This record gives sequence, C-alpha cells and structure tokens, in this order.
Amino acid sequence: MNIILLGAPGAGKGTQARYLVEDRGMVQLSTGDMLREAKDSGTEMGNVVAEVMAKGQLVTDEIVIGLIREKLETVKANGFIFDGFPRTLAQADALAALLQAEGQTLDAVVEMAVDDEALVQRITARSTCGSCGEVYNDITKPIPADGKCAKCGGTEFKRRADDNEDSLRTRLMEYYKKTSPLIGYYYAKGKLTRIDGLGEINDVRAAIGRVLDK
Ligand code: ADP
Ligand code: ZN
Repeated sequence: MNIILLGAPGAGKGTQARYLVEDRGMVQLSTGDMLREAKDSGTEMGNVVAEVMAKGQLVTDEIVIGLIREKLETVKANGFIFDGFPRTLAQADALAALLQAEGQTLDAVVEMAVDDEALVQRITARSTCGSCGEVYNDITKPIPADGKCAKCGGTEFKRRADDNEDSLRTRLMEYYKKTSPLIGYYYAKGKLTRIDGLGEINDVRAAIGRVLDK
C-alpha cells in the first residue's frame, strides 16, 4: 500500500510518517529529508538547494522527481509513505507515471488539515533529535528534563534553518499557490481523505490508521 501525506508545512506529516514506519513497516520517502541530506553532504546539488530551502521556496521539480525516481527504482518496500512529495501538479503526474512503471498503485492520499495560526506556533517551537530524528516541540512535546532523547538517549538537538517566521511565510504561500491544488486533483481521482491534523498526536495517528484500513 502506497500513500501520500498531504498538508501545509508543520501539519505533522513527518511525525505521522514515522509512526506509520513503526506501526506498519512502511518506508518513508521524505523529499525534505533527502534534500537536507544532499545539503549536508556538500554536493553540487546540495549547494544549489540549500539556498532555495532556506528561503522557503520550492526546489525544482526536476531535482525532487529525480530523487524519488531513484528511490522507487532501488528500494523494495511493502508500502511507501510519500511525505512532502508531490508538492506540484507536475510532481503528481510524475509520481503517477513512476508508480505505473514499477507496477505499483497509489492507494490513498491523506490531507492533514491544520489552521495557519497553529502552523506558525508548531514550526517555530520545533526541534529534532540529531541522532534518531525524533521530533520535539517546546510547548507540546518538550525535550525530556534530563536533556536526553526519549527514544534513543541522544543529547544533541537541532533546529532547521528554515523554521523561522520569515521563511515559514514563504513556505505557506508556496503551499497555497502550488501544493494545495493537489487537494482537488486527488479528490477528483477518488483518492483523497481529509483528517483533522489539529487533534492529539495519537488521535491523528488513529485517524490515519482508519483511512489505511478502509
Ligand atoms: P515542511 O513540510 O515542514 O515545509 P519539508 O522538510 O517537507 O518541510 O521541506 C523543506 C523544504 O524542502 C521545502 O520548503 C522546499 O524548499 C524543499 N522541498 C521538500 N520537498 C519538496 C518538493 N517535493 N518539491 C520542491 N521542494 C521541496
Ligand atoms: Zn533520538
């Protein structure tokens, strides 16, 4: 089963994708994570994308489609979770073609609806564990008092360069202009289910589980 998690920056796609990996052994394909890896590795492509990402703009379709193509051709999984991809109609068409070429189908698109106010608060309070990637939030899920990651015991936490209010405004505008048309696109294909992304993390987790078990 292959699914897309769709939603604005900060909607909780990454957090829920990690649960799906845990709960169902699916494989998470996050273009944001792949691009950050490329950035950290200092490759030519990494340097090109770093600046674009820091501003909160979208990286070119060509680059992200290339990243996804490579994964789909090389990783064997019993289900992919597309997290942060597709973000444009061109990416959505490319994904359909890539899945078809691999003899795979897209089973569901889960739209995680969250209002903009909550997004700003979530994102500016966000940090992640440097070793395992567990996501924390200063207000709703603080780093344990002993300073150790609850999941892996790691003691280094990072904040993303683009998790500031300025770049978030751009990310939100990019979302409304370029990504939100995908809601209509997948609705018309009969794939879309909207869930409330504002609930408790575990309620959202359960809601996504119900969509997948339908
Ligand atoms: P968020 O959803 O919180 O904004 P992501 O980690 O998914 O975070 O993405 C971070 C940044 O990476 C985006 O703002 C954009 O610059 C780039 N990016 C990620 N995925 C894509 C994509 N599918 N197409 C274009 N740019 C992307
Ligand atoms: Zn950790």
